[in-house]
Amino acid sequence: MRKLVYTYDESDPEDVKLLGGKGAGLVLMYKQGLPVPPGITITTEACKLFYSNGERLPDGLMDEVREAMRWLEEKTGRKFGDPRNPLLVSVRSGAPVSMPGMMDTVLNLGLNDDTLRGLIELTGNERFAYDAYRRFLQMFGSIVLGIDKKVFDDIFEEIKRERGAKYDSELSADDLKEVVRRFKEVLGDKFPQDPWKQLELAIMAVFRSWNSPRAVFYRKANNITPDVADGTAVNIVAMVFGNMGFDSGTGVLFTRDPATGENVLYGEFLPNAQGEDVVAGIRTPKSIEELKNERPDLYKQIYDMAKKLERVKKEVQDIEFTIERGKVFLLQTRNAKMTPLARVKTVVDMYEEGLVTKEEALARVKPEHIIGLLYPRLDESYLKKHGISPIAEGLNASPGAATGRVVFDADTAVEWRNRGERVILVREETRPDDVHGFYASEGILTSRGGMTSHASVVARAIGKPAVVGAEKIKIDYDRREFRVDGITVREGDVITIDGFTGKVYLGEIPTAKAELPREFFEILRMADEVRSLGVRANADTPEDAEIARRFGAEGIGLLRTERMFRRPERLSIFQQVIMARDSEERREAMNKLVPFLRNDFLEIFRVMEGLKVTVRLFDPPLHEFLPSSDELLEKLCEARMRGDSDEVSKLESLLRRVRELREANPMMGHRGVRVGVTYPEIYEAQVRAIVEAYLQLRKEGKDLQVQIMIPQVADYREIKYVKEKAIEPVFKEYGVRMPVGTMIEVVRACITADKIAKEADFFSFGTNDLTQGVFTFSRDDVENKFMHDYLEKGILDFDVFQSLDTEGVGELMRIAVEKGRAANPNLEIGICGEHGGDPKSIEFCHRIKLDYVSASAFRVPVARLAAAHAALKERGVEFPIY
Ligand code: PEP
Ligand code: MG
Repeated sequence: MRKLVYTYDESDPEDVKLLGGKGAGLVLMYKQGLPVPPGITITTEACKLFYSNGERLPDGLMDEVREAMRWLEEKTGRKFGDPRNPLLVSVRSGAPVSMPGMMDTVLNLGLNDDTLRGLIELTGNERFAYDAYRRFLQMFGSIVLGIDKKVFDDIFEEIKRERGAKYDSELSADDLKEVVRRFKEVLGDKFPQDPWKQLELAIMAVFRSWNSPRAVFYRKANNITPDVADGTAVNIVAMVFGNMGFDSGTGVLFTRDPATGENVLYGEFLPNAQGEDVVAGIRTPKSIEELKNERPDLYKQIYDMAKKLERVKKEVQDIEFTIERGKVFLLQTRNAKMTPLARVKTVVDMYEEGLVTKEEALARVKPEHIIGLLYPRLDESYLKKHGISPIAEGLNASPGAATGRVVFDADTAVEWRNRGERVILVREETRPDDVHGFYASEGILTSRGGMTSHASVVARAIGKPAVVGAEKIKIDYDRREFRVDGITVREGDVITIDGFTGKVYLGEIPTAKAELPREFFEILRMADEVRSLGVRANADTPEDAEIARRFGAEGIGLLRTERMFRRPERLSIFQQVIMARDSEERREAMNKLVPFLRNDFLEIFRVMEGLKVTVRLFDPPLHEFLPSSDELLEKLCEARMRGDSDEVSKLESLLRRVRELREANPMMGHRGVRVGVTYPEIYEAQVRAIVEAYLQLRKEGKDLQVQIMIPQVADYREIKYVKEKAIEPVFKEYGVRMPVGTMIEVVRACITADKIAKEADFFSFGTNDLTQGVFTFSRDDVENKFMHDYLEKGILDFDVFQSLDTEGVGELMRIAVEKGRAANPNLEIGICGEHGGDPKSIEFCHRIKLDYVSASAFRVPVARLAAAHAALKERGVEFPIY
């Protein structure tokens, strides 16, 4: 028979899995000589047996409890069920991971009509005893017997009303007697007078609360799996009373401020009250500072104990205490839950105080904390207080909260911004030529698109909050309004979007702005000392590059060049390129673009001086740069009606070209290197602009390393061809060399990586397209179509466009790394798909020994931390669960 019940003397405080967090914390305090009321713990093993036993207590459990209760009686000098000297206990849940408020607790157990008299005699305080009894009856009735708590609350309120009492404390002993009488009427003969029966039923109720819907939901939401916590322990602890007069009280404190992380005791205290009064928020508690003024002796005791616990546990502690007639008892200690700011500050402070090692410090900061610090958040209490619900919901594509006036196009966003308005850009979906609108807006809302849609990728890259794919929103661009569930929102109306939750609200909701503290940069510096994986950024504007640099990127891992062709003055030239009849015409038109492109590169190179920049050659299909055939047809009609024959013939040839370029599957079509193969003049001119910008920078006395990357490669001969036709001749002409590498984003490229590696100086995994290819899921549509079905029905465990599918896509990456390195030992390998900013995927990249990850600029801090975590995990460092 396994031992299922332990007294504090028999317990090991390290055994959190068996004793639960609360049990282990009590034992720790007991063993440290701190004043805790004595108690015993029924293990989480017993809870598991309870469930495997069809929700029945394991055989012999109550005998073990009786045995252990004897120890408790000895320690307290009281006896359970003794009418003259009764021992009262609390029966409290406590899982291995803290699940605040999710499970149940019964206080004052052991009271019945006989022991009540004993309690009155013992304390000489009839009012107190009846108050304890009514609380017990209520908790027992609602938690153990499952009677609606409201029934008791209603009776209590009714009696208060009858007596004209505003506060509970105004009720006399006689009033409370009446409460007890009425409560007992409700309970009837279901209430056992036998304290042992009470105890047995309460233990079962606590076990059952492990599987209450709210507890199950909480575990799911916080990813608490059975290997982390499987069942709750039950703590049976001698009662101490904070409600024995004004030399008594109860409170909660944090060893450091859980909001700011400041190293000051922070807490609240309620005189003459029992624990649940603080939690229930019935009376306004006093700050712990007031205790310092009123009872400096008690404050000092509590302060010393709190600091001692912090030193022992090496974590900020969240402590419950009770003062019973001037004597302090500690009832619970656990690792504090804190805001991201406080988490990062306290971790760095504790490292600097010598309390924790660098490794421990890093393991305690989660990627969410870093994200939480970077972006403003909505004030949740404001939403709650005013009962505000969202008007729509979409995908939480880019974190942060933003408020502004609705605008429906990028130009209006810029115009309004310039006159000092804050705006939210609302579009069905966004396109590369909307990007200036992104910079001008506080946030972006779209009614279509998924997590890797244009809007999502760009918003994340520049750190703007975004909610995408809010499908219920119906936009009417002509009327300049959108409608959702009967609500009409017009241009200029104020909305708030929450990129953390994907919710959209009407009006302004207050947000807290992110100020980056010293400790944020310090923890990342510590991460850099630990990680082996490099961190670069995806950036294609000087602004992105600045952000990336400020956040510590070691270079640009992906500079997409498409947007350089879309600016108004260039688009028409590029259209000439597309319309050119032969190579000569094409080269001539492309060369007109070179000065523009050179200037764009130069601006970015200047920002990235001293670092590495990987420029990717042109990737999208050409048709994206021509008007749509519908648009052309319309214009053609108008031109015909006007009789403008020049215009008609121009439009007709444009339309012909558009029709020629039309493809059934553009994403699998004439794009990337395939365009480079057909029209090498495009790549040639791009390389020329890159080289000229590089030489210009050198002239300015600065330097950096530029690499040229070819997209969509499936066969090594593609690289060979464009190198020969478009890259090498330019190098030769200018007398420079630059590494030339390739995206690995096509399945075949992974499988033939050995051959490709002979032609490439580096690989960069484009896991957006690779995931699309491996699953044949369209990356632009899947989130709006069936991804939620796949997740809900458990076919996929997570969205594979956000976190790497290590089994499938990852396996191909592994093959490519192995084959690539075997064929070319100097091959540099990185990743630049969106997964490069996802912590789990980063861990995988570390394991398969990539050289670096490249993430959108705002993700760089997260990537630095995640890369350090990956290295620590490999070394076996343990990661705490909060
Ligand atoms: C990719 O496919 O992962 C990639 C980085 O390229 P893009 O997102 O530009 O297609
Ligand atoms: Mg790609």
